[in-house]
Amino acid sequence: MSEERSLNFIEEIVEEDIRTGKHGGRVLTRFPPEPNGYLHIGHAKSICLNFGLAKKYSGNTNLRFDDTNPVTEDTEYVDSIKEDVNWLGFQWAQELYTSDYFDQLYDFAVLLIKKDLAYVDDSSAEDIAKGKGTPTQPGTPNEYRNRTVEENLQLFEEMKAGKYADGEKVLRAKIDLASPNMHMRDPIIYRIKHAHHHRTGDKWCIYPMYDFAHGQSDAIERITHSICTLEFIPHRELYNWLIEMLEIFPSKQYEFARLNMSYTVMSKRKLMQLVNNNYVAGWDDPRMPTISGLRRRGFTPASIRNFCDRIGVAKRENIIDFSLLEFFIREDLNKTSWRRMAVLDPIKLVITNFPENETEWLDGENNPEVEGGDDSRQVPFSRELWIEREDFMEEPPKKFFRLGPGLMCRLKFAYIVRCDDFVKDGNGNVTEIHCTYFPDSKSGHDTSGLKAKGTMHWVSVKHAKTAEVRLYDRLFKVEQPDSEEGDFKDYINPESLIVIKDAYIEPDLANAIQQLTDFPDRRYQFIRKGYFCVDKDSSTENLIFNRTVTLKDGWSK
Ligand code: ATP
Ligand code: MG
Repeated sequence: MSEERSLNFIEEIVEEDIRTGKHGGRVLTRFPPEPNGYLHIGHAKSICLNFGLAKKYSGNTNLRFDDTNPVTEDTEYVDSIKEDVNWLGFQWAQELYTSDYFDQLYDFAVLLIKKDLAYVDDSSAEDIAKGKGTPTQPGTPNEYRNRTVEENLQLFEEMKAGKYADGEKVLRAKIDLASPNMHMRDPIIYRIKHAHHHRTGDKWCIYPMYDFAHGQSDAIERITHSICTLEFIPHRELYNWLIEMLEIFPSKQYEFARLNMSYTVMSKRKLMQLVNNNYVAGWDDPRMPTISGLRRRGFTPASIRNFCDRIGVAKRENIIDFSLLEFFIREDLNKTSWRRMAVLDPIKLVITNFPENETEWLDGENNPEVEGGDDSRQVPFSRELWIEREDFMEEPPKKFFRLGPGLMCRLKFAYIVRCDDFVKDGNGNVTEIHCTYFPDSKSGHDTSGLKAKGTMHWVSVKHAKTAEVRLYDRLFKVEQPDSEEGDFKDYINPESLIVIKDAYIEPDLANAIQQLTDFPDRRYQFIRKGYFCVDKDSSTENLIFNRTVTLKDGWSK
């Protein structure tokens, strides 16, 4: 899907800025995650947008960790974010931390106080909220608003020195308590928080609020286009006010619609709940919409980039169906995955006219499109085979093209077989299917004149290896778990993970774990069963495959 598309609205702005020579035609964006969780597919949209713009217009992108909240942040998250951005295929110009600007931000706050544009307020959070009024009623100034510059300077310094407890005082910008924009009604810009910070340690006990840190960090870095999601529109006025009052680099903020997806949740806070309450096996559980989860599930960076490109950048929110993401991974894996055979739900097929103790080695064609595909792989064929239980029916309906009494079907890469008989156990379950094979019907050399409408995959019983196979489905049963009644966790799909402990795989696939070292990106199509990758929990003794996606969209009908 790389057809030419028209410019999105942000590209239009950038091109206009370049044309008019704003910032000398320079483009510098930033991706500013808060290191309080792992990145998800929504962040991928922001990453592709920020890095994509810079790439397109010969600019750069900074990776800035927005670490102003000491309590929730951790270096584990910093490391995972860097890994994910890199994996998606992007390189940042500089790795930066808002906490590196704490001294500078403190100086900016002092400057505001000196201009009589900020004051220390001793009120409780509740009283501050009350004093702001309502959208229809202006706020009312309190006694602290008239503090002198000198008094404010001293109090703010004492706040920094640790003289006060959490919540005892805050620093507020002095703007306009009657502004129609609630964010302009003397917003809090610094708060006291006696907490250890993952980078600055115990140096600070006051921390800037998001609105005071973000725009100033943009300005310090001389960001030209600061792109964020729509909920920041009401913050833009404050962003501009601070830049103007502090007389710093005029970065500009632009807002786009965040990505919402069906059948999943996307806020880090909610994903954290899934992890902490063991609904999933971790942030990288293959059912998670996190980048690390998608990676472990077998998604490729290209499939995610193509998806982000396709959904585009708009000013209106909508919900994207999860199956669109699946479309892009199918498109990618169809071209790049190796074709192999595995039987997930086995039943034994005995070819009564094939000699015992004999093995015939057949040419197993790989995907002709893949690079380095070993087209010469040999697949062992023998008297006893595993086939898929669903490929046999005792009383097949009319258009069933696989096996049933008297029916013929082709075995992939091999021969046409006809079902003559079957064996049942005491409980009435079919345990064995007896067939005749036709030696002159060999694939590629068929002179039999027989017609078989279906083709089945299979694995030779005495050559088969076993593997664990994990099948994933949507994590939630409903389209929008967020908007359902009650807790979103009540809507988890109990069948989102099905583990098959002993699937049978063709012997060549047993090398998949060794090949992982040399070919980490290798993916497999298990013929008729979907696209698979080796899971990181695998060992030589216990090989595990994750199903990335089925071959066809099973949800569309
Ligand atoms: P969450 O609510 O999931 O915790 P966040 O917005 O708090 O997300 P940040 O780490 O602050 O997470 O986000 C970093 C950047 O990614 C921000 O610029 C934010 O606007 C963007 N972003 C976050 N979620 C989405 C989304 N669903 N779609 C597009 N961009 C997003
Ligand atoms: Mg956030």
